[in-house]
Amino acid sequence: MAAMFWIIGARLAEREVREGALRIEGHLITGKTTSVPFGVKWHEAHGLTIVPAFIDAHVHLSVAGDVTLVSRAEVRRGVAGVLDLGEPERLLPFDPRPLRARYAGPLMTAPGGYPTQTWGKDGYGLELSSAGEARDAVARLAEKQARFVKLAFDPRFPLLRHEVAQAAADEAHKRGLIVAAHALDAESVRLALDAGADVLAHTPRDALPADLLARMKGKWVISTLWAFGVSPDRLRALKEAGARIAYGTDLGNEQTKTGIDERELALLVAAGVDPVAAATRDAADLLGFKELGRLSVGSTASLLAVRGLAPQQLADPVWVMNCGKLVV
Ligand SMILES: [Zn+2]
Repeated sequence: MAAMFWIIGARLAEREVREGALRIEGHLITGKTTSVPFGVKWHEAHGLTIVPAFIDAHVHLSVAGDVTLVSRAEVRRGVAGVLDLGEPERLLPFDPRPLRARYAGPLMTAPGGYPTQTWGKDGYGLELSSAGEARDAVARLAEKQARFVKLAFDPRFPLLRHEVAQAAADEAHKRGLIVAAHALDAESVRLALDAGADVLAHTPRDALPADLLARMKGKWVISTLWAFGVSPDRLRALKEAGARIAYGTDLGNEQTKTGIDERELALLVAAGVDPVAAATRDAADLLGFKELGRLSVGSTASLLAVRGLAPQQLADPVWVMNCGKLVV
């Protein structure tokens, strides 16, 4: 029989914050109540607030360091799941346990395109010159369990031709994969949307014109405001246009760090985005992790106990639970 205990005395932060207790059995949340029964084993969390463990929807684990060490540091510091948006094909399938991960594999780009001339030389970028090559590449990545593909558009370098980018996106959609795009300027966003992108992997630096904002309704934006020095106003405009927002740090980029980044959370707040929602249930929805990101009965018991919901408090949990076990 799985060990069973209650987390008592805490407040539970969901859509609202209120008193409540959670029953943990094995790796799952199996009960939620306001009145704990007598005689149960309990873990006292008085004065603390429980939030689901965080999900970082834009990382590059192998760029950040040794994948095993980085993954363990992520879990220890409160991140239970990630979307890795750039790994070489040779590292796939990619399973950085205990961290839960979705991944895209290499960034698809034109011959000579971003990032194969810079940081993506060693397999992090994949050059495609025809629609056939694009379809073959997506098929290969899908066989290696990629759930996302990533198209890169950077006008400092040659750009994917429309029919090549569209073939990649079309093949991805046929196979149930989600299409993310690296697109920081307005024209690149246009190319990405024309190809069929579902997700902007970064908040664009440019203020988007009204026609592009209108096309973002129902699509996703991964924040990465801090790593790229982007104004929170850009994200606010996308949110107001009806885009869904997920928290992402671009871990592996310069000056990023493992764990929850209070600088990114503060920028989300400045953009009018609820940082807890963006880093838990919304990111879980984007990644298709039904069991993470919520304090629901049936969810994985991957939780953080925090002193409050301010960015610094969220980024510095008092304790971290991963799959029903306290992480030390
Ligand atoms: Zn990135």
